Amino acid sequence: MDISITRSAFLKALPDGNGLSFGTVFTDHMFNMDYSPEKGWHNSRIEPYGPITMDPSTMVLHYGQSIFEGLKAFKTDSDAVNLFRPEENFRRFNRSAEKMCIPRIDEAFALDALKQLLAVERRWVPFAPGTSLYIRPTIIAMDPFLGVRASYQYRFFIILSPVGPYYKEGFDPVKIWVTEKYVRAVPGGVGDVKTAGNYAASLCASEEAHKKGYTQVLWLDGVERRYVEEVGSMNIFFVIDDEIITPALTGSILAGITRDTVIRLAARWGNPVTQRRISIDEVMEAHAAGKLQECFGSGTAAVISPVGEIKYKDTVLPIGNGEVGMWAKRFFDRITGIQYGRVEDPEGWVVPL
Ligand SMILES: *Cc1c(COP(=O)(O)O)cnc(C)c1O
Repeated sequence: MDISITRSAFLKALPDGNGLSFGTVFTDHMFNMDYSPEKGWHNSRIEPYGPITMDPSTMVLHYGQSIFEGLKAFKTDSDAVNLFRPEENFRRFNRSAEKMCIPRIDEAFALDALKQLLAVERRWVPFAPGTSLYIRPTIIAMDPFLGVRASYQYRFFIILSPVGPYYKEGFDPVKIWVTEKYVRAVPGGVGDVKTAGNYAASLCASEEAHKKGYTQVLWLDGVERRYVEEVGSMNIFFVIDDEIITPALTGSILAGITRDTVIRLAARWGNPVTQRRISIDEVMEAHAAGKLQECFGSGTAAVISPVGEIKYKDTVLPIGNGEVGMWAKRFFDRITGIQYGRVEDPEGWVVPL
């Protein structure tokens, strides 16, 4: 399938790479493609970045039938541009599509479209330390219709945003708050895919955490409210008595690509990650026994986010004396090293542009 390219008549000034935050600046162009039952996916095009005009009755606005992905492009010291495991993102995109009754895309074609868009937008990949070009593929339901059913028509788009390091505090441990009131996902629900409603449903808990002075919410399972599932929109790891543990994928946890990368690196380093259910009580007990060495989140935006404090009910668990743990640092350094092309990539995770 051909991709037509319409170049913008005006190019924006590039932002200062050192002052970048997250998700506020967008590039000159975007990728667009439409779906109809008659034509399938068609009309693939790269065109100037701009608003999507839609009818107020458009289904996505009412019922949230939409999915997205998040990945990054990195500028290396030798001025090359690297993607990190992008095939995994498009594979997961299709898993999300299936669960949300959205027609599948051709993964190889989508990756090719992304590469073509990046070729057009190459100057937007920032090079200041810790910066990258965030990539947001999205599919939304486009039927102008107020009945509740799966849409017939869809729009697939990809937008790009140059970003700085995710946390304003830098690579410093963050404080997280365990919510007992809210749950993120339940077995049989859609918590294991990247669909809009999951994030809408997390906002009040997040606001409450911020009001209490915490950066992120630690989510427990939706049935017993006992087992740790995720932190904010990241996967979570604990190091207890030298064992690295992450919650097993039970159906209500998003299968993070960074999570998988951590698991594969740990295995290669001879320190396999245990994937099992882990209760908040076990975490409390490990802390009381002096065995809770580390806790960190993993996700594309932050890569690794060390946790320095967990609050559960009235108990505050300080972790690691405010320092970044050894494992968190090791994973962060190796993953970012591979992404920026500074260290060896034996698994072939990097896809150069
Ligand atoms: C995207 C996401 C993650 C992390 O996935 P990565 O592929 O590592 O970026 C974890 N949890 C949730 C809920 C997410 O949406």
